[in-house]
Amino acid sequence: MPKMSDTKKSELKKNDLIVIGGAGGFIGGSLARYFHDRGFTRIRAIDKKPLPQWYQRTPGVECLCMDLSIESNCKRACDGAVEVYNLAADMGGMGFIERFRIECLRSILINTHMIESAWRAGAKRYFFSSSACAYNTDLQKDLKVRALKESDAYPAMAERGYGWEKLMSEMFCQEYWVERGLKTFIARFHNVYGPWGTWDGGREKAPAAICRKVIEAKDTARSNITIWGDGKQTRSFMFIDDCTKGIDMIMHCEDLIATPINLGSHELVSINKLVSIVEEIGGVKLKREYDLSAPKGVAGRNSDNRMIRKILKWEPDTTLRDGLKVTYKWIEQQYLARKAGKQTVI
Ligand code: NAD
Repeated sequence: MPKMSDTKKSELKKNDLIVIGGAGGFIGGSLARYFHDRGFTRIRAIDKKPLPQWYQRTPGVECLCMDLSIESNCKRACDGAVEVYNLAADMGGMGFIERFRIECLRSILINTHMIESAWRAGAKRYFFSSSACAYNTDLQKDLKVRALKESDAYPAMAERGYGWEKLMSEMFCQEYWVERGLKTFIARFHNVYGPWGTWDGGREKAPAAICRKVIEAKDTARSNITIWGDGKQTRSFMFIDDCTKGIDMIMHCEDLIATPINLGSHELVSINKLVSIVEEIGGVKLKREYDLSAPKGVAGRNSDNRMIRKILKWEPDTTLRDGLKVTYKWIEQQYLARKAGKQTVI
């Protein structure tokens, strides 16, 4: 499907307009900062959340509060864009995506209107944030899961709701390239974590939730921690700085047009191991209680990085321990700020 002939890197000019949907959230907010720090002067960031609730607002970035599931807002958002990054979606950790499948499915409206608006606006490139949840769940029932390679999405049996939306939106991206010549890029993220992400309130993912629980236990002198599931489920986790760098590299690689690719760490750990690392960082040892009725997702999931290594000669390489140290410190600051009655990222 993609034309593999042109392998040269694209040149994005420093004053070209970059549009980022979902920039009030974790990855979109970090991406806006990433481009700003690299000297790009025209970045338009959009999110449906009111501006005071954005996780990060980078000075010099145009920040707009708009609902991107509405077509006219997408037209306004993409006006003049050279590159469009769609990170907007109604999403969260397992607790959210297992309970709110309709909300997850409705994110298809965002991508449908954003890609059409990007194409109509004459944007040169379009990025879609897909997910490992697009993979066939039948391949993830084993704790000793083999890492998922890009072709494992088909035959399709994606995660109900969230995963199917991602798979359909990927297909939109592929067909906009085939039928209309819009260069689209699709990364399947595997669990992203780091500072400036959701850390409480029900949408947070395992690394942030465990950091918060350990910090809370220390602060309140509690000796136990509740873990969702039996703790044996395995995952890989990618640090946010690897994610933003990977998005940039994927979006500017001609060999990856309309070609879904894994963007994740291949360091596989059990949730029990994740808890042990966080306990070591926090300097505590807690008694583990397992909530077997809580949502726990597939048994095991890892990222097969052979394709990204081959094409980009790179893969996410921040160790979980190093990334968690930074994340733990940031969540601790947030926790203490909230306790002191100050405004925080939730
Ligand atoms: P996030 O929830 O922090 O950010 C998503 C943002 O999109 C939120 O700020 C939300 O308000 C915004 N949004 C939702 N609906 C919108 C709408 N109609 N109009 C405008 N904005 C809207 O999530 P994130 O972790 O930053 O994820 C970004 C993208 O990456 C999402 O597409 C997500 O599915 C994908 N992804 C994330 C992970 C991860 O581990 N964080 C893993 C796989 C895929």
